[in-house]
Amino acid sequence: MDSAQVTSNIIFCLRDTARGLLDLIYPPKCVACDSIQSHYLCPSCVNSIAYLEPPICSRCGLPTDGAHRCMPKCGPFAFAEARGVGVYDGALRKAIHELKYNSLAVVSGDLIELMTKYLSLHTAFAPGATCVIPIPIHKSREKLRGFNQSTLLARGIADYLHLPLVDNALYRKIPTPPQVDLPFHERVQNVRGAFAVRIEEAIAGQTILLIDDVMTTGATASEAARELRNNGAEKVYVLTLARSC
Ligand SMILES: [Zn+2]
Ligand SMILES: [Zn+2]
Repeated sequence: MDSAQVTSNIIFCLRDTARGLLDLIYPPKCVACDSIQSHYLCPSCVNSIAYLEPPICSRCGLPTDGAHRCMPKCGPFAFAEARGVGVYDGALRKAIHELKYNSLAVVSGDLIELMTKYLSLHTAFAPGATCVIPIPIHKSREKLRGFNQSTLLARGIADYLHLPLVDNALYRKIPTPPQVDLPFHERVQNVRGAFAVRIEEAIAGQTILLIDDVMTTGATASEAARELRNNGAEKVYVLTLARSC
């Protein structure tokens, strides 16, 4: 851990402590429905999430009409399989928005719980995973936000799975422009070369569980997986909190 990471960890501790004190005076409000709760995403909003359950595509996790794969939309992907916990909509979308665009890091606890619950119900997913890696954001964006939301999620998942969190091996070289409304093949071009590996030994031979907040076409996750595999990773699985459908 370098001095910048130590400083940012200290800032987070202080921020969390300050929030803890504030919670005593102003109890948490559900970020999706504004009701005063003990959680930042209340039980009724958690119940309202459209969870992604079968029938889904065995490769990319998109809902299907019963088909095994979502062809012809599906891939080609560099990851083995991707799964999303819920549809990127409603309460889940609001919570992710608060986390990312209002830098509300405290909501990550409730979001991690959704992801670990998913893993506890789908124990066959990502067999033999040996480490957890967050999809990196560019350092300019991380500086602005104060954190990488995927690192917060990945840390909780690594703890839950008792696997090492490897958050320094993969980084984002290029701040990719927003991908909204681009079709898959254009997104692939848009993110080509966006990631690089700086510590090959950390990923060589590893079966990686890659974590992100939202997956849309899968182009970004696939590019990260491609870079990891080009640098010696054995296999890459992807788990995201939400999936644009
Ligand atoms: Zn709520
Ligand atoms: Zn698919």
